[in-house]
Amino acid sequence: MGESIGRFEIRKELGRGTQSVVYLAFDPHLEREVAVKTMHFAEASDRQNVDLLAEARIVSKLRHPGIVPIFEAGEQGGDLYLVFEYVPGESLARLTTREGPLPAPRAAALMADILAAVAHAHSEGVIHRDLKPSNVLIDGGGTPRVMDFGIARRVDRGGGTPGEFSGTPSYMAPEYVSARTVSEQTDVFAAGLILIEMLTGRRVFQGASVQAIMDRIAAAPAALPADVHVDERLAAIALRAAAHDPADRFRSAGEFRQALLAYLAPPETEAARGEAAQSTVDFLLRRMRHKSDFPALSESVSAINRIASDETESINKLSLTILRDFSLTNKILRLVNSAHFRQAGGGSISTISRAVIVLGFDAVRNIAITVLLFEHLQDKANAGQLKEEFLRANLAGLLAKDIAALLGTRDLEQAYICAVFHNLGRLLAQFYFPEESEEVRNLIVQKGCTETTAAQRVLGIGFEELGIGIARSWGFPALIVNSMQRPPAGTVRPPRTPEERLRTLSAYSNDLCQAIATLPPHERDKELARIKARYGEGLKVEDRSLQECIARSIGEITDFAQIVRINLRQTQFGQHLRRYAGNGAAEPPTILGDAALADAVLGHESPVGLDTDDFSGAGQKAVDAQAVLTAGIQDISNTLVSDFRLNDILRIILETMYRAMGFRRVLLCIKDARSDTMLGRFGFGPEANELARSFRFTLKFTPDIFHAATSKGVDILISDIDDIKIADRIPDWYRKASSARTFVLFPLTVKSNPVALIYADKQHANEIVITEKELQLLRTLRNQALLAIKQST
Ligand code: ADP
Ligand code: MG
Repeated sequence: MGESIGRFEIRKELGRGTQSVVYLAFDPHLEREVAVKTMHFAEASDRQNVDLLAEARIVSKLRHPGIVPIFEAGEQGGDLYLVFEYVPGESLARLTTREGPLPAPRAAALMADILAAVAHAHSEGVIHRDLKPSNVLIDGGGTPRVMDFGIARRVDRGGGTPGEFSGTPSYMAPEYVSARTVSEQTDVFAAGLILIEMLTGRRVFQGASVQAIMDRIAAAPAALPADVHVDERLAAIALRAAAHDPADRFRSAGEFRQALLAYLAPPETEAARGEAAQSTVDFLLRRMRHKSDFPALSESVSAINRIASDETESINKLSLTILRDFSLTNKILRLVNSAHFRQAGGGSISTISRAVIVLGFDAVRNIAITVLLFEHLQDKANAGQLKEEFLRANLAGLLAKDIAALLGTRDLEQAYICAVFHNLGRLLAQFYFPEESEEVRNLIVQKGCTETTAAQRVLGIGFEELGIGIARSWGFPALIVNSMQRPPAGTVRPPRTPEERLRTLSAYSNDLCQAIATLPPHERDKELARIKARYGEGLKVEDRSLQECIARSIGEITDFAQIVRINLRQTQFGQHLRRYAGNGAAEPPTILGDAALADAVLGHESPVGLDTDDFSGAGQKAVDAQAVLTAGIQDISNTLVSDFRLNDILRIILETMYRAMGFRRVLLCIKDARSDTMLGRFGFGPEANELARSFRFTLKFTPDIFHAATSKGVDILISDIDDIKIADRIPDWYRKASSARTFVLFPLTVKSNPVALIYADKQHANEIVITEKELQLLRTLRNQALLAIKQST
């Protein structure tokens, strides 16, 4: 040819595009072959050249083995030219025309490589905009190399109306056709079409004219030809990438690539990946253990998780575990007395035992775990951020429960706890690795990458995987652990199993809450619409009903915040909620905390806000014994008139005495008629159950204090077992069984026949002091126990 462009000596033409010719050329300076692309514009303008150069500069920053690098840009005769690395080989377009449909694994592997390059560009903020087979060159080693990043936009932008567009629009995304929207999703769409094309050997959208093709893209989603057999799993992946609605596609090129890698990965590699993830979780767990409170938190949560809900003993165990923690007990009782639970049949509950009866074991366990988590996550440094996350998680839990109820799900408590723990990983990372979490947030903003990618880069593991690892180590049941996995991107399918349903529900409510609690109104509504579209198929909830659910949950969280002493007004969360409620989108929250009642039930605590018993870890604090006793009596009266189980009543009675009087231990003994002995059954306080086992004494005459109480039906207080006036009336078995020096006995007798005995002690002599009024109330409790026993036999 003998011609040159700039210093580049043209050897031959490599190919032509609609607005360009590409030549193979020689660079005499560096003595290498290059590809020179010349641009011809109908009316070349300086402005267009400037734009194109700016774009070329951006692209020149991309360095990736899958991207054809640009060497330089120049101008000759008013026309711009670009100089690229020369890639010997053929374009993907040529390859597919030559070979026809490619085998599925080959197509998947090629596309995975292409996506690695695209994802890299995205992470640098560059969107390709013109992904198509002719822009992918397969080099000598069979590796795909992507070209022409970002450049296409400048070329067709000048064109104006779509009708004047002169390239091939076959890979244009529908949202670009209809609204000229460009995003990572546009590239994902094109990549999906290319994959389908590789698998079928045919272009998905074709037409006689540019306009005809664009009309087709806008009108209907991509589909596979009926007459070509395509690997089903891979086709599903490709179709998801090429979904009509961007929200239904993979969220990123990286995610699309992951799906392809998972498709290609033999099972062993998956296992190896799992192992690697596990060791990262272990490492992070070790780091957490260095923080002083983490072992305690882990232990408390694990202990509660270990209590299986189906044992008869379990209610007792749960109550015991909770009662050990004074401030936890108070908070839980306040919560169960909140308006929310009052509607659920609660209200006026003064003991953990009764809470379990009224609300169910799982509900109380869930409240306990939630409150525990929150108590432990109080920290000075990043308390603010944590509070926000915690509130959001809780709102998601409440919302999930509400939606579950609407959908007629049986186990609402599971819905609650799954949704609360859905973001455990992020929540804990926030607390234990605040700097890293900050870095993750920055990465997301700066690089526009997904949270998972960012977390993987910073922590070596995504938040989701971290949460799952920790939940597993805390002994959460598989159901909850599995629900922490987010459903794959795109339209969520109707769940087929209860487990899938829970998983979908957790993700759904968390996504909704995330939008409600973090986005400004304009973006929020768009995002809410997007979420509804994504999940609408899977969980059919009418818009109105959903609004109501959201409004109700907001009411409940308001209650909750009040009880755990969070001033919502001071949180961003609260401000977002107010904005949401004020939007007219939903009725304003109607349920507000009735703290007065809760406080009355718990015994004359100071009004909300002035109370010192907040989450800063107040220690044991004296309770108003009389108030607690009175509330307990009311509790029992309420229970007695309904269908009750004797054990439940007795447990409430014991717990009331235990809490009100600050006894160290309270024990119930029941008469065994056959052997005519009194046997210890169960109790509250340290080693109460061991103590119960050693209480076994005959009801036949013995000259001791136990016989005196049971045979005569009198209440006896022993202030000091070593007092010489009484010492020899204390039986040996008692001295062996207990180290307490003071105790009180309340026998239960029917027609002067002993049927049971309540024993309560404190450690040191003279510690038990009972006022006249308290004694009256304690006796009432004893009489209620008797009544219950009589009624049930
Ligand atoms: P289009 O991408 O629309 O085909 P282009 O002008 O970008 O138009 O490219 C025209 C042809 O030139 C491509 O199809 C490809 O075969 C060839 N080509 C472009 N760049 C290179 C390169 N760097 N190395 C080798 N061949 C190239
Ligand atoms: Mg090209």
